[in-house]
Amino acid sequence: MKPCRAFMAGLLVFLVFIFPVSFGWGLDGHFTICKIAQSRLSRAAADAVQRLLPEYANGELANVCIWADRIKFRYRWSSALHYVNTPESLCTYQYARDCKDENGVEGRCVAGAINNYTSQLLTYKTRSSSSQYNLTEALLFLSHFMGDIHQPLHVGFAEDKGGNTIEVHWYTRKQNLHHIWDSNIIETAEEKFYDSSVNGLIDAIQMNITKEWTDEVEEWVKCNSKTIACTDIYASESIRAACDWAYKGVTEGATLAAKYFSTRVPVVYLRLAQGGVRLAAVLNSIFG
Ligand SMILES: [Zn+2]
Repeated sequence: MKPCRAFMAGLLVFLVFIFPVSFGWGLDGHFTICKIAQSRLSRAAADAVQRLLPEYANGELANVCIWADRIKFRYRWSSALHYVNTPESLCTYQYARDCKDENGVEGRCVAGAINNYTSQLLTYKTRSSSSQYNLTEALLFLSHFMGDIHQPLHVGFAEDKGGNTIEVHWYTRKQNLHHIWDSNIIETAEEKFYDSSVNGLIDAIQMNITKEWTDEVEEWVKCNSKTIACTDIYASESIRAACDWAYKGVTEGATLAAKYFSTRVPVVYLRLAQGGVRLAAVLNSIFG
């Protein structure tokens, strides 16, 4: 290895260790949420999304839903926008108390980011050619953060960085609790039930939305605040699920396997479904 490449590789390892990154739902989680959302868009919203999507998305919002994670190192300022933490292991969420970054800058959390990109996208209809916003990036950020806020451990405790510092075993492998909720539960479900296919998972969740959850879907998109996205509701549900399911009974070094999987996988399905349905509702009212 050339000295320069060795240095870069060393730097990368160093960065990974000093920034224990929380990536949000993994690739398949974000893909699922955006796939569900795109299937529920109104004509106007679908047209606007097509116009704003970058060419490499091939007309599929789901293909670029992970973009916000991929550009974290280029847009360093955006790292704090993927989550929000509660202090003192509290199982409740309050925007004014919790939505700030490590430097205490207010509004710099996933809820603030959703509000910000929602209002940027509202300029779509009135935009002139000199719009001050990059609406393609706004769409990709919003679609990603609507997913993240539904991952229970993206509204977790500050003291363990949303489960990132809790080391456990997922079956036989070492893993941190946050990653189990980002990816492992989803991957295990795909392996066990759908021949390792994300499309099988999406079909199953879509089926639940139209059958099992039909009565609840209307409730999911109700929003009594003045904002288009009801981030208080989404974040409060997430910290509740984090306390009731993600953290519950988990101690450092524990082995989480079949029992944890079978009791938590319904929660993951529900959050993916709610993320997708609500993202569609938000995009429909922005572009409607
Ligand atoms: Zn994220």
